[in-house]
Amino acid sequence: MILTLTLNPSVDISYPLDQFNLDTVNRVSQTSKTAGGKGLNVTRVLSEFGEDVIASGFLGGALGQYIEEQIETTRIKQAFFKIKGETRNCIAILHEGQQTEILEKGPTIELKESEEFKSHLLKLFKETDVAVMSGSLPKGLNTDYYTDIVRLAKEQGILTILDSSGQSLEEVLISNVKPTVIKPNIDELSHLLKYKVTSDIKELKTAVSQPIFNDIEWIIVSLGSEGAFAKHNHKFYKVNIPNIKVVNPVGSGDSTVAGIASALIHQQTDEELLKKANAFGMLNAMEQQTGHINTDKFDEIFKQIEVIEV
Ligand code: ADP
Repeated sequence: MILTLTLNPSVDISYPLDQFNLDTVNRVSQTSKTAGGKGLNVTRVLSEFGEDVIASGFLGGALGQYIEEQIETTRIKQAFFKIKGETRNCIAILHEGQQTEILEKGPTIELKESEEFKSHLLKLFKETDVAVMSGSLPKGLNTDYYTDIVRLAKEQGILTILDSSGQSLEEVLISNVKPTVIKPNIDELSHLLKYKVTSDIKELKTAVSQPIFNDIEWIIVSLGSEGAFAKHNHKFYKVNIPNIKVVNPVGSGDSTVAGIASALIHQQTDEELLKKANAFGMLNAMEQQTGHINTDKFDEIFKQIEVIEV
C-alpha cells in the first residue's frame, strides 16, 4: 500500500474573473472547491492510475469535514487525524491570464496532537510499503517533524519519498536518517545548495554529488519542459522528453512524485521509474485540472521518453 501524507491540506477555491478590480466588489459565477495540498494531488493521481493508496494528515473543523466528504466520493482510502484547529482555505483568483493567490497559513498543531499523530502513523505503517510526504509543515510542528516520520518509517522497512522544501527538507538532509527519494526542482536544488544551478549535465552531476545528499538513494531533479536529471546510488541519468501541448503545469511535480511511488511499489527498473515519473508529470501538464492525469494517454507518452545514463 502507498501512504500519502498531507500535513497541511486545504480547500482550494478558484475564482475565475474576466477582470479583477481592486478596492471594489468582484462577483464570481463559476467557483470550484477541491480538496487540495500537494499530498492530495499525489493521492489523486495514484488513484487515477489504479494504485492502492491511503491518504493521511491533519484535518479539522468544517473545511476538514468537507475534504473528508470529497475524498469519500472517490475510491481513495483515508485515515486523517482530527485536530482542534481549522483546516485552511487557499484561494486562487484567475484573471486576465494571471493567477493571484491568497494562501491561509492553516491551523496550529498542538504538541499532544503532534505526538498522537505519530502513534496513528505507526498503525498505518503496518500496511504501508511506500510513504510519500509532501508539502510544508503546519504551524506548531517542529521543523524536524519529517525527520521523525522518516525515522519511524525506515524502522519499519518502508520506502520514503520526501517532497518538501526549505527548512523541513534541510533538517532531514542534515540528520542521520535519509529518505529513499527526494525530488527537488532546479530552484529548490539551488536554494538547498545556496548557489544557482543550471540544467547543464556537468553542473547537475556536481550539484547532486554534494555531501548534503550523501546516502540518499535517489535524487531526482525535475526540469520542467527539459525533463529530469537523476542520481540513483552511483549512477546518473538524463531524462529527455518530447514536446507537448501544455495546458496547466501546476501540480506536475506532485504527479511526478506519484509516478515515482507507483514505480517503487512495483519494483520497476531505474529506466521504468524515470519514464513513469516524467510521463505522470507531463500528463498532468496536458490537463487543466491540477493533480489529474488522463491515463489513456500514458502508453503513448511513456514510449516517447528517453532515459540515458550520463
Ligand atoms: P515542479 O512542479 O515540482 O516544479 P516540474 O515543473 O519540474 O516540477 O515538473 C515535473 C515534471 O513534469 C517534469 O520533470 C516534466 O516531466 C513534466 N513537465 C512539467 N512542466 C512541463 C512542460 N512545460 N512541458 C513538458 N513536461 C513538463
